[in-house]
Amino acid sequence: MVIMKFGGTSVQDAAAIDRAAGIVRSRRKQKPVVVVSALAKVTDQLVLIGQKASRSEADSAVELVHALKDRHFQVAGDLLGKQGYKEIAPKLELLFEELEDFARGLAAVHELSPRSSDALLSFGERLSSEIVAAAFAQRGLTTSWIDSRECVITDANYTAARPQMEATRKCCQAKISPLVSKGKIPVMGGFIASTSDGISTTLGRGGSDFSAAIVGAALDAKSIEIWTDVEGMMTTDPRLCPDARTIKRISFNEAAELAYFGAKVLHPATLLPAVERNIPVYVLNSRNPSGTGTRITAHAPSGREMFRAITAKTNISIVNVVASRGIMVHGFLRSVFDALDRYGASVDIVAISEVSMSFTMETRRLPEALLVELEKIADVSSENKQAIICLVGEDIHGRPGIAASVFTTVANAGVNVRMISQGASEINISFVIKESDVPHAVRQLHAHFFPIDHAWTDALVRPSRARLDKNANVSRNNGNGSGRRTTGRVGTGGPSRAKPGRISGSRSASSPIQSANRGKKK
Ligand code: ADP
Ligand code: ASP
Ligand code: MG
Repeated sequence: MVIMKFGGTSVQDAAAIDRAAGIVRSRRKQKPVVVVSALAKVTDQLVLIGQKASRSEADSAVELVHALKDRHFQVAGDLLGKQGYKEIAPKLELLFEELEDFARGLAAVHELSPRSSDALLSFGERLSSEIVAAAFAQRGLTTSWIDSRECVITDANYTAARPQMEATRKCCQAKISPLVSKGKIPVMGGFIASTSDGISTTLGRGGSDFSAAIVGAALDAKSIEIWTDVEGMMTTDPRLCPDARTIKRISFNEAAELAYFGAKVLHPATLLPAVERNIPVYVLNSRNPSGTGTRITAHAPSGREMFRAITAKTNISIVNVVASRGIMVHGFLRSVFDALDRYGASVDIVAISEVSMSFTMETRRLPEALLVELEKIADVSSENKQAIICLVGEDIHGRPGIAASVFTTVANAGVNVRMISQGASEINISFVIKESDVPHAVRQLHAHFFPIDHAWTDALVRPSRARLDKNANVSRNNGNGSGRRTTGRVGTGGPSRAKPGRISGSRSASSPIQSANRGKKK
């Protein structure tokens, strides 16, 4: 069995859904189970509907509902023949009636609880999965629509619910396995789930990837395929740096670290269920189905570059907490950590010195009340619009000079570093810079650690090492026909042989995957 997840852009319109049908057909023999996101941007629109409704702007919320309705009916009309459209129209009509009533209800009570927000956002995937299932059937695939909320069971942590794997396993095996055995292709929405009492939950934004992994683990799938709009996991976000290129093989640990530190291509929790069952995950491009994409497995062979990839996580705040005079150091730290714990604050990077502590958090998750509480024991200041840059690679373990090389590159780019962290696992180096410096810093780091010469030679049958070494540092065409010239290094070894930098007083958030993955084979 193969789980095939199609993201928002891969089901954004009739042409994309038609392509997805072709991709699923090509996997028919491998018994696909299909998980789909909402049509691109629909979840954002639902968030907006919630905001408007909670401000009692009922009319403009309903206007947005109608715009969504027009778009979904248009896509269904473009995809389905007369008969198919006749069958699906009443279902869509009912869903939109329910959505409009819900929006008006929210406007009437002036509020949007996390629980109502999940119910509201669930419409995106409920709608898309109905349309995709109908479109596949129309194209001769024997599909069966499944309500994900009857299969994926979670706790009641609304907006970021966590799966209860035992219950989920039972439900998936009862509802999905018999269909697959009969040769049917189940189609279900990602992102949405329910509590054991049947209340709708969601797995957090971007959570359809996570759904695919949960269902894959529950059904012991052979592989999980994440179909998206880029050629796999790339050496950095291609939107930030046009020279980014596909990573062919990457380990679970590395991919999890990248996802955690901002590589939007995968939801950060995605890999845990796959790691636990040792199921390979592929990230593939739905616009180029013949591409090989990225293969994520427990272990991955070393690449020629020192790092596997660079990510940037924006919308970060730095909080500086300086102990008030007279407070004992150990008491101070305990009070700060207690406060973080009470607010369930999930910090990314922490730096501690004798009487002060700085930490970073996603700005939207930083509770004002936490700052007020910390002010009782310390001088507190915070700065928004910061970003974490993270360079990830298992090969950096035990190699001297790497941190120096990273920070020399950043310094040469004229970018100021605010905080630094290198985890004990030595799988990443992360640091904090101003958000506005991100594009420049990432491009400079990418040019330094992923020289274009490597892309050029990777694209060809690899010449012998002797020839590569001889040609090192010689300018040449990058092979993309752009005529662009470069003088990057060829071969292994660090671009810099500077002395190692010393990093202290900080730690990185390490992913739960690292412990789950220990001892897994390729
Ligand atoms: P989907 O809708 O298929 O879930 P997403 O928008 O969630 O797709 O994720 C794909 C996007 O992730 C890409 O368009 C790309 O801009 C972004 N991205 C960020 N970092 C990376 C990376 N390292 N490799 C590939 N894509 C990345
Ligand atoms: N539709 C949801 C979102 O936009 C889930 C996903 O696309 O993965 O966040
Ligand atoms: Mg996504």
